[in-house]
Amino acid sequence: LTAAISTREPVGIRLENVSKRFRGGVEAIKDVTLAVAPGEFVVLVGPSGCGKSTLLRVLAGLEEVSSGRIHIGDKDVTTQLPQQRDVAMVFQSYALYPRMSVRGNIGFGLRMRGIGKDERRRRVEEVAQVLGLEHLLDRRPAALSGGQRQRVAMGRAIVREPQVFLMDEPLSNLDAKLRVSMRAQLTLLHKRLGVTTVYVTHDQTEAMTLGQRVAVLRDGVLQQVDTPQQLFHHPVNLFVAAFIGSPSMNFVHATVSNGAASFAGVRIPVRPDSPLARGDRKVIVGVRPTSLSLASGNGQPELAVTPAIVEDLGDERFVIFDVDAPRVDTEATRAAVEAQAADDALLVPLDRATFTARLPAGTPVTVGEPITVALDPDRLHFFDPATGASLE
Ligand code: ATP
Repeated sequence: LTAAISTREPVGIRLENVSKRFRGGVEAIKDVTLAVAPGEFVVLVGPSGCGKSTLLRVLAGLEEVSSGRIHIGDKDVTTQLPQQRDVAMVFQSYALYPRMSVRGNIGFGLRMRGIGKDERRRRVEEVAQVLGLEHLLDRRPAALSGGQRQRVAMGRAIVREPQVFLMDEPLSNLDAKLRVSMRAQLTLLHKRLGVTTVYVTHDQTEAMTLGQRVAVLRDGVLQQVDTPQQLFHHPVNLFVAAFIGSPSMNFVHATVSNGAASFAGVRIPVRPDSPLARGDRKVIVGVRPTSLSLASGNGQPELAVTPAIVEDLGDERFVIFDVDAPRVDTEATRAAVEAQAADDALLVPLDRATFTARLPAGTPVTVGEPITVALDPDRLHFFDPATGASLE
């Protein structure tokens, strides 16, 4: 590693009760409080329009807050202009200067700031080495691949040695394969540079693979800020549970009584230490597709079902079936319903819960032929049907 790059101490970021209301009344960010540790990589994730970009732009100083404070390091930057904040932003559309070489593009910001030729050369070459662009320094952007261009855009941000990187969907213009490889490169880059980074994406897989912690945003409100592991295994509410994980968690309305949850004729004991172990109530049960298996008579609760769709992915099979219990209305299930309703041939009934099981390749399953699936009772999630809050 070239020691000259980013020898600066990383700084933390603090957002305190930040709200942003646009003229015209849209409240894009509602009372967001979030602390990013020095050197941490935090991903903001959520569906389109949830306020991710606005939050990032507020951090960069490109939008003023309506209320709340923002600290970067020990400085209150709430009213500072973007150029005073020592942050570098990388966008989805990385407008490189077409007539300039890679060297010129990476060094442009330094030139504008009056940094001398020799130092410019040294810093551009160091950054090019970190990004594996050394052999491309004399090329024009038109002669680069999409991934190489994105690395040049990254280089422009890195060469400034900012205290903070802010990235807004920087990989979304790349094809799927390249995105995966750039993701890994970004993680390595962050390990080497250790610069505090806030990264925005609508893609939960990207969020889960990149983020040391992931902040889930919905309608401008932070839902949960946690490690990917925690988000996946302990979602605080129905929204986070449905948003994180692919295929999405399955949901079904159920009743808990005498220490067991019941739906569609199956009884599943709840853990004795669960708050649900005593008393009766209505719940929503959440079942990850990986918590379902083909029944093997090992004592797990079983459900007789008929596969409506079998999707072969090579190394695994997604088996989709309906369950004789009322469907839970979440954004994810609504999207599925709409997608199906657009289709003439309805494969699964719209009023019943639809489950997806993620089974190993070669699992003997045929559309229309009844099977018995087992549910892992230790890996179920329970939610309040009224509020969506987790009951664990
Ligand atoms: P996407 O993933 O689609 O980019 P996002 O999560 O980044 O979405 P934002 O772009 O932050 O969402 O927008 C949040 C909300 O604020 C949306 O309802 C949007 O229409 C609104 N909004 C964004 N910018 C402005 C603006 N300049 N004026 C008024 N409303 C705005």
